[in-house]
Amino acid sequence: MIDPTSDIGEDVDESDAPTCHTCGKKIVTEPEHRVVSWIANGSAEHLHFCDDECREGWSGRRPER
Ligand SMILES: [Zn+2]
Repeated sequence: MIDPTSDIGEDVDESDAPTCHTCGKKIVTEPEHRVVSWIANGSAEHLHFCDDECREGWSGRRPER
């Protein structure tokens, strides 16, 4: 049964969890989790980061134009 009041993410299967692009850590219930997405060659690309620090560590290689 689906309980609409339960928090999405509390019950994430670890094998489904994204990993941080910078440090490779599994992101399961990271509250500071960041996702960067963009369109490349007509499809959506996503990168996951465990926090702002890791996201900034990558920003020099931002794939925008
Ligand atoms: Zn990280």
